[in-house]
Amino acid sequence: PWNRILPVGDSSSNQSPLSFGGFGAMVRHLPRLHRGIHEALLYDALSQAALAQLHPYQPNLSVTWLFQRTMSVGVDQSLDPDAINRLMNAVFLAMEQLGDPVLKPFLQDVVQFGALSQTLSQMSVTYPNIVTRLIPQVGLPPLMDWMRHYLSLGVYSAACPAVKALQPLFHQLPPLGRYYGDRLIDALSYGSGADYRGHEAP
Ligand SMILES: Cc1cc2nc3c(=O)[nH]c(=O)nc-3n(C[C@H](O)[C@H](O)[C@H](O)COP(=O)(O)OP(=O)(O)OC[C@H]3O[C@@H](n4cnc5c(N)ncnc54)[C@H](O)[C@@H]3O)c2cc1C
Repeated sequence: PWNRILPVGDSSSNQSPLSFGGFGAMVRHLPRLHRGIHEALLYDALSQAALAQLHPYQPNLSVTWLFQRTMSVGVDQSLDPDAINRLMNAVFLAMEQLGDPVLKPFLQDVVQFGALSQTLSQMSVTYPNIVTRLIPQVGLPPLMDWMRHYLSLGVYSAACPAVKALQPLFHQLPPLGRYYGDRLIDALSYGSGADYRGHEAP
């Protein structure tokens, strides 16, 4: 939020430290931050606007609030005591049935459009009752707001390879343009979960 100052880790509010493992998230983002900080120093891109590119909007993070919301009960709400356990069982069973490409990224804190869409579809077909009970629990306006992030996740996933292909063009721009181009690629890649490399041999 200021020129020449970049919060990292918990202080950056990049990710909820408790809901999805703040340390794990920070480690996952280290290559992006390392690259970005290196270029920011190299190109003297240290204004508030330039450094804000290192904390981009990530739709795959924004969609996760729904998971937290479905596992919480408002003070004025009453819920079947087994409802949350049933939901967790259903979600993990659906992901297990869909296999490692769906389950593993999620367990490693990476939400991807394809895996999320498959899980939601599988759950709607296998457990329609659980899904319909969630709508009054979460509320329609928040669900519509969530849809916005879900659709952005789809757009980010589709745009990522196309914009990555433009990287050689970005590298012909003046330094600041190069910096913003690379940050756009990072934002699309991390914001769509395209940075995930868990399936590759270490
Ligand atoms: C109960 C709990 C369980 C967690 N479990 C997990 C987990 O299972 N997996 C996971 O990935 N993450 C987990 N986290 C989150 C993880 O601990 C944090 O995301 C991580 O420690 C953040 O590291 P950090 O360096 O950004 O901040 P911190 O570790 O908070 O370090 C900040 C440091 O700055 C110091 N400091 C503060 N103010 C000043 C000042 N004015 N001057 C000098 N020093 C200052 C503090 O004393 C502290 O040492 C958990 C957190 C909690 C609380």
